[in-house]
Amino acid sequence: MAEKRVMLSYQEMPKQWYNIAADLPTPLSPPLHPGTLKPLGPEDLAPIFPMALIEQEVSTQRWIDIPEEVLEVYSIYRPTPLVRARFLEQYLGTPARLYFKDESHSPPGSHKPNTAIPQAYYNKREGVKRLCTETGAGQWGSALAFGTNRFGLKCTVYMVRVSYEQKPYRKSLMQTWGAEVFPSPTDRTNSGRSIREKDPNSLGSLGIAISEAVEDAATHADAKYSLGSVLNHVLLHQTIVGLETKKQFQKIGEYPDILIGCVGGGSNFGGFMMPFMHDKIVEGKKTRIIAAEPTACPTLTKGVYRYDFGDTAKMTPLLLMYTLGHSFVPAGIHAGGLRYHGDAPLLCKLYNEGFVEAVGLHQNPAFEAAMIFARTEGMIPAPETAHAIKVMIDEALKCKET
Ligand SMILES: *Cc1c(COP(=O)(O)O)cnc(C)c1O
Repeated sequence: MAEKRVMLSYQEMPKQWYNIAADLPTPLSPPLHPGTLKPLGPEDLAPIFPMALIEQEVSTQRWIDIPEEVLEVYSIYRPTPLVRARFLEQYLGTPARLYFKDESHSPPGSHKPNTAIPQAYYNKREGVKRLCTETGAGQWGSALAFGTNRFGLKCTVYMVRVSYEQKPYRKSLMQTWGAEVFPSPTDRTNSGRSIREKDPNSLGSLGIAISEAVEDAATHADAKYSLGSVLNHVLLHQTIVGLETKKQFQKIGEYPDILIGCVGGGSNFGGFMMPFMHDKIVEGKKTRIIAAEPTACPTLTKGVYRYDFGDTAKMTPLLLMYTLGHSFVPAGIHAGGLRYHGDAPLLCKLYNEGFVEAVGLHQNPAFEAAMIFARTEGMIPAPETAHAIKVMIDEALKCKET
């Protein structure tokens, strides 16, 4: 019987992140200042981010060392296993070999601590006392609560109201790690109050919650803002996922033909696929790299490639990305983590240049796929992950025809 789980030892865990900015065919377009619409300088970001993260945001250095303190916290749950979905293969009767990279082993249960930990670390090192953030389904808020707790920082979380109501246990998780949590839109910020005046029953959105968290950070000297997706430094930290995956495939003498991930802001998918994208760009490998997104928030498949704000209140810099418009509020689907109007500029550029494919999915077939997965592999996947599983099953079934 083939090995079910491909493991790495801590010694084998990558000690550097991979920065795809070093290998892009053309450079990334810079973010623009929301007031002047001119390219942003590092000093513009200094009120909301620590210098170390601003430097990573604009860096074109290919490999960036992971600090020892971060590696130590990573060791709580990393390296994570690469798992052969053999039971699912048998159920589908597919000749394809299916694997999944299992990021569920972190204490908050997702890939998000991979960036929450270094973000908390760099903020702490620069004397910041409190981090403000938004959260959709609660995964990012709990990851940051976990990360800030490790480094002795306070944490304030603005949680999208629809998720706050759907997933109240997430709030308890964040509070356990010491964070304070508010349903957004709140009455604590100007941006929250103005939304509530217009729509007292607003379900909230990631865009609104970002406005609130940025405003909180910008109006308090000892606080900074932390974003769980979209930005270059976030995708950089997430490359630990793809780098481990690559080593695991090397160990078993395989190389993937297709890589699939779900996209909310693009960080798990970006971090997972970018070390393989390196091979596609630099070595001409033919790997298909597919983004799965909900039809309720079809950023890549239906959005427009243009500069747009990251938030509803137009407080953030403008990013060149596929966008549904900064005022777009998606339906309250279960996959709260996929309800964002834009996507990471790095991912959007690669999609725009044809290196990445995208598929839109309704949540019902995604849930059917999740049920099949749970009843074959045993694990109950997140609703976000279910979108990627649906695409994986569809591709595996196509392999039967050829
Ligand atoms: C947050 C989250 C996502 C979406 O965010 P990305 O930045 O696109 O990765 C997807 N899946 C899970 C489980 C999440 O927690």
